[in-house]
Amino acid sequence: MQRISHWVNNKVVAGTSGNVGKVYNPATGEVQAEVDLASVAEVDAVVANAKEAFVTWRATNLSRRAEIMFRMRELIDANRKELANVVSLEHGKVPSDAMGEIARGLENIEFACGIPAMLKGGYSEQASGGVDVYSIRQPLGVVAGITPFNFPAMVPMWMFANAIMCGNTFILKPSEKDPSAAMFVADLLRQAGLPDGVFSVLHGDKVSVDRLLEHKDVQSISFVGSTPIAKYVYETGTKNGKRVQALGGAKNHMLVLPDADLDMAADAAVSAAYGSAGERCMAVSVVLAVDSIADALVDKLSSRIPNIKVGPGTDPAAEMGPLISREHRDKVASFVTNANAEGAKVVIDGTDKAKDAGFFLNPSLIDNVKPGMKCYDEEIFGPVLTVMRVKSYQEGLDTINANQFGNGTAIFTRDGGVARQFQFDVQVGMVGINVPIPVPVSYYSFGGWKASLFGDQHMYGPEGINFFTRGKVVTSRWPDPRTSSVNLGFPQNR
Ligand code: NAD
Repeated sequence: MQRISHWVNNKVVAGTSGNVGKVYNPATGEVQAEVDLASVAEVDAVVANAKEAFVTWRATNLSRRAEIMFRMRELIDANRKELANVVSLEHGKVPSDAMGEIARGLENIEFACGIPAMLKGGYSEQASGGVDVYSIRQPLGVVAGITPFNFPAMVPMWMFANAIMCGNTFILKPSEKDPSAAMFVADLLRQAGLPDGVFSVLHGDKVSVDRLLEHKDVQSISFVGSTPIAKYVYETGTKNGKRVQALGGAKNHMLVLPDADLDMAADAAVSAAYGSAGERCMAVSVVLAVDSIADALVDKLSSRIPNIKVGPGTDPAAEMGPLISREHRDKVASFVTNANAEGAKVVIDGTDKAKDAGFFLNPSLIDNVKPGMKCYDEEIFGPVLTVMRVKSYQEGLDTINANQFGNGTAIFTRDGGVARQFQFDVQVGMVGINVPIPVPVSYYSFGGWKASLFGDQHMYGPEGINFFTRGKVVTSRWPDPRTSSVNLGFPQNR
């Protein structure tokens, strides 16, 4: 059985805890590897190592840091296919989808290559007589990232690229369900010339997360995962004095107005709902269809869904792979199975596929959902699209704003004025106008509102740089000794 171990000082380090997790091939349902799960002592050793590496790394000049990240950019580019296959084999998403994940992650590496320009501070000459004031941004120290199963390559890149370039040393605790992508990326960083101890991978479960949250030498926690754990990580980390950004779950609505191009809207909804088997935090989960076009839109959705080819990543024709685990597949299926009894209408039932040995489901479509039903109130995170019928734009907007989550949303319309009003009023962090999955490009920042984000700073882009640095302001004077005198008054400029 293949064993996946930790990554410290640019090499694989075998775990010593004796605890392991099982890594499945979701397309076959078989266990294909075991992953070491770190003990408290192992976490402490990795943090101590990263703390030592920080001393030299933070003093490494910006050009040298950028040179390493530029090399990393070339290495990821050259290894896209291999990395996509690693992702596909453990996560289950088809390789073409995994290639998209890597392309979007690569954007973050590219952004980080330019950090020297972003780390420039401000300078005010002659703030007072002979006094200059300037600001600098400095790294935090040892920082940690805890990542979910659904983007095992991209989400770590959201975090470590900026963290490292800002001068921090970074510890990644990837999802134990698909840990190999982190190891692949770690080896590329080694090849790029990253010094020992700057980037470590620590595999683990709650034990290692809890230790990172309480360790006095870990300065910040970047977390992406489900809302209950995000809340827990935020509350525990901040209680222990850490800076925390914790991104949680989602329920993304797509509001389709009567003037929208319905074929375009149906194509977009199907792509955004079933891509990656719906295991995307920006997946469209609810279509809000205004009554007058709802029947037509449901017909258009229903005619497209049976054409989706479900199969393993090894089948080049497959467009949608399996879910991550047997338990998750069964949970997703239960939302569909219970929907009729809740008063909704299952238009397409994809749960028959749950009999396969792999963790597959076919796409499902549920119409007439309403708040109060489980399939609406909870995050499904699977290939299930729901339709809620609304009387008007206003009812659609109110529905979105009443939802506990606020990660992504989209409006489909030809009316620019209404779209602008929507962007003004909607209480969601990332908004698409005729764009179903509005994941911001790397030079903006990613983050939701409400139960989709705990903390103030969004991830990557400019807010990522703020998160991974602390500001310092220096007030400086090089006086002429001849003008020196004692003055007990408070320093002032006038
Ligand atoms: P998860 O919350 O189960 O796990 C995320 C991480 O937390 C993993 O590394 C895991 O090991 C750790 N963890 C799990 N249980 C823990 C516990 N009790 N204590 C401490 N640590 C624990 O999430 P997942 O199932 O891996 O990922 C899917 C979820 O992530 C979905 O809810 C999805 O919406 C969300 N997600 C959000 C975003 C975003 O940007 N908002 C992006 C991707 C995924």
